[in-house]
Amino acid sequence: MSATITTVDPSTGSVIRSYPTLARHDLDGLLDQSVAAQRQWRDTTIASRADRLRVAARLLRDEVDDHATVISREMGKPITEARGEVLKCAVTCDYYADHADEFLSPKEVSTEAVRSFVAYEPIGVILAVMPWNFPYWQVVRFAAPALLAGNGGLLKHASNVTGAALALQSLFERAGFPAHLFTTLVLGEHSMVNELIADDRIAAVTLTGSEAAGASVAEAAGRALKKTVLELGGSDPFVILADADVEAIIPLAVRARFVNTGQSCLCAKRFIVEGAVIDDFERMIVPAVESLRIGDPLDNATQFGPLAKKGFVDDIARQVDESVAMGARVLTGGYRLEGEGNYYAPTVLADVTPDMPVFREETFGPVLALVRANSAAHAIELADDTPYGLAASIWTADMQAGLDLGRGIHSGALFVNSVVVSDPRLPFGGVKLSGYGRELSIEGIHEFMNVRAVWAGAMPS
Ligand code: NAP
Repeated sequence: MSATITTVDPSTGSVIRSYPTLARHDLDGLLDQSVAAQRQWRDTTIASRADRLRVAARLLRDEVDDHATVISREMGKPITEARGEVLKCAVTCDYYADHADEFLSPKEVSTEAVRSFVAYEPIGVILAVMPWNFPYWQVVRFAAPALLAGNGGLLKHASNVTGAALALQSLFERAGFPAHLFTTLVLGEHSMVNELIADDRIAAVTLTGSEAAGASVAEAAGRALKKTVLELGGSDPFVILADADVEAIIPLAVRARFVNTGQSCLCAKRFIVEGAVIDDFERMIVPAVESLRIGDPLDNATQFGPLAKKGFVDDIARQVDESVAMGARVLTGGYRLEGEGNYYAPTVLADVTPDMPVFREETFGPVLALVRANSAAHAIELADDTPYGLAASIWTADMQAGLDLGRGIHSGALFVNSVVVSDPRLPFGGVKLSGYGRELSIEGIHEFMNVRAVWAGAMPS
């Protein structure tokens, strides 16, 4: 067991800070405190819970630069993107506060009873296992609805963003949520997650991360018969049909692939382009990608930062090198950047085919894989030829055709003529290996609630 976790600046390799990890015997007391806090919290009014979320939103806005700096230093996201992440968290806290009554009030149902209704009740303390790529957003999109619902939260965050995890605990405390309602656990071992899941004081578990972590958590939760929500990987297609305006799409394609240095589950990863326009796309995408400003994540001018961990450069290099050996053509990039930090050049590969790693596997880094389609139907077939099913985008002058064709792609979200983004007003989640369950919107808040049927009649006489 590691007794400390050390965070490292991915742009330089220098140590940021070390944190002591929790000992097993500390967990017992923390669990008791969480359960006690949640039992009091569940009896508070919905309006008072919503008020706390509004304070959290205000703090996030007031302190946006401080929070963004924590994010950028620990995982390397360009600071302008980190500010956007923090502000999106604020919007989401306000969104849930504004819709509290609508989502949580009982729904009357007409039956033979004197009164019958569906009640939405909290279920207890939820364990959240979260990744580093959006260190605030992933947590807030779980915590805002969970706390509003009357649940408590225990956060096991990715080790490399421990500073962010502790800052989030402090944020919720300062917003006036009761002590111990939302607690960050600095764990030195994954096996402790399974032990927590087995504990009666944990009601359910949500995980955002890799398939391996998802399978491990789902296995432990299955043994304990506890509900899980899993948000896993993606290899989203970006389908460009022959009637699309390629020039207009180019900046959006760059954003869709290279946001967060390509480290987003929702990044478009496979660009499937009809033959009639693929030469135009090839010609225009290269200068656009080469114009990305690579640099220090804390510099406001930077658009492209380092990968979050050293090993990720090796992972991306392997996927690119193997694909090139199988016939992919490098249009730009395809190499590590020299100097300190985990930098890999923004890369575009053409002539990608479905057997290559950059098509079959999730590429969690800055590699745009370009695939030729012979027709619209062929493009959809290629788009759906993946074990993942998170989201898909289709670009066409005929919006209705995009909607119709999109039904052929199995995914948790379909966007026509727009970059895929998560939005608190719409449910978010995947199918196939991308996971199950939904976050955000009304569907997200009900995932961790007891949707209870209530029937009341007069005493039989
Ligand atoms: P990861 O290795 O699965 O880590 C995610 C979290 O799970 C971290 O807190 C990690 O802790 C923990 N973890 C890892 N293995 C575990 C295990 N066996 N038992 C319990 N906990 C475990 O994922 P990652 O590589 O950091 O993140 C990238 C992956 O997340 C990609 O596949 C990406 O697509 C996916 N993702 C999905 C979404 C979505 O919403 N669908 C969003 C973002 C990312 P440590 O840090 O201590 O290892």
